[in-house]
Amino acid sequence: MIYLEHLLKATHGQLRYQGKQTRFDAFSHDTRQLIPGEMFVAVRGERDDGHNYILDAIRRGATGLLVEARTLNTFPDELLTAMAHIATIVVEDTRLALQQYAQAILQIWHPKVIAVTGSVGKTSTKEAIATVLSNSFSTFRSWQNYNDLLGIPLSLGRLEPHHEYAVLELGCDHPGEIAELCRIVSPQIGVITNITPIELQYFGTFDRLAAELGALPQSLPADGYFLFEDENAAIRALIETLQLSGPTIATFSRQELNLSQLQTTWSGLATELIPSATHAHKLPFSSHLLGTHHLNTMLIAYHIGVQQGIPAAETVQALSTVEPMAGRLYPLAGVSHARLLDDTHNASPASMEAGLATLAMLTPANGRRIAILGDMLNLGDYEAEAHRAIGSLIPRYADYLITRGEQAALIAEAARQAGFPADRINVTYTHEDAAQTARMLLEDADRQHHDVVLIKGSEVARMERVSEMLMDQP
Ligand code: ATP
Repeated sequence: MIYLEHLLKATHGQLRYQGKQTRFDAFSHDTRQLIPGEMFVAVRGERDDGHNYILDAIRRGATGLLVEARTLNTFPDELLTAMAHIATIVVEDTRLALQQYAQAILQIWHPKVIAVTGSVGKTSTKEAIATVLSNSFSTFRSWQNYNDLLGIPLSLGRLEPHHEYAVLELGCDHPGEIAELCRIVSPQIGVITNITPIELQYFGTFDRLAAELGALPQSLPADGYFLFEDENAAIRALIETLQLSGPTIATFSRQELNLSQLQTTWSGLATELIPSATHAHKLPFSSHLLGTHHLNTMLIAYHIGVQQGIPAAETVQALSTVEPMAGRLYPLAGVSHARLLDDTHNASPASMEAGLATLAMLTPANGRRIAILGDMLNLGDYEAEAHRAIGSLIPRYADYLITRGEQAALIAEAARQAGFPADRINVTYTHEDAAQTARMLLEDADRQHHDVVLIKGSEVARMERVSEMLMDQP
């Protein structure tokens, strides 16, 4: 909920038109997704300018507008007439105004801010933490994977005064972004999920990426709390370099779990938490997330829940309700009774390997493990090597490989070099060809079908199109 008075004060904006509303449900910067009652924020992007869509926003039911002064003089009369009925705030820079609002509103309503960053697993971890906390507290979570200097402030338009916690995902694709986000949101609790090579075309080296993520623990106050995996050498080295004197530094470990009892099924992960100083009895430890990498996601949510005073038994109970998210190892019914693991949201070397391991783990003995892999992008100089490294893992995790795209073809080449049978590899360059190849494989009528198909690639590779073509549509 956005209150006009807070917005004007935080941004030093000018109220050009009064309009009828003084409260707005949320910010929207995309008229295609705008819901009546929201405030439309005109943002200039690289390819387009939101100021071109103001009339569209009004027609779709925007009850407020946040626009830049420099463009106002250029507006035609027709547009100014339409705007005159809508609360219109004029600022110099709408992106900056959103950030100023975000910073101010967090100070005014002061929820406890929990920030999650890392190379992979940020959204899943943010969601798991928020699920655990929302069982006991009024909890806000940043929207979907809105995690940058535009997305976090946009998300915070949905913050309400009653929220006791705000769980935010912080992403970075340029140096200095995490520090800037932390300056805006002032987290009290911080988590780094892991540090693995991603976005290296922006950071150049792994060390620079690690230093970037280190801005989160550095920003925590003296009574803050920072959590990471005990066995993660890269985060440990980072923390030692930072020599933090303020916040409590805590770790979690898979050794807290009875892994000999781990069950990995299509219903999720289930094991036990071994008794410790904080709880005397074994506790069931489960969620509906697929893939053992999510044991970390669960342990992080568990530790934060308990650290915030939720009894251990209640924390694990809340954790057991955590569901997979669309595009992130999300189970779907596929054609010919196959099961699809839709992991098309994004890809990096670590999540590719995690996806392949999950494919291997969930395929029954009488089923075929089929990997449809697209390009992994944004890896800078490491790009070709990363694809080859994934290719070398194929013999261990898959029975059939279909690649889609120029870079993904390197996965096929490396798989062949690693001894994977050439007649089980298909190199394709379009979504249609990849899906058609898989379809032919799945429609092989001579066999009982217990096949599992992993579909994965970077966000820009748009591998969800392949998933859509392979879904068992009613
Ligand atoms: P992005 O920044 O691309 O939105 P993210 O950091 O928010 O990603 P998620 O969206 O939670 O991460 O997950 C992205 C992918 O990474 C999914 O395929 C998920 O299964 C995988 N993943 C999540 N946690 C881990 C982990 N600890 N190790 C490896 N892969 C992981």
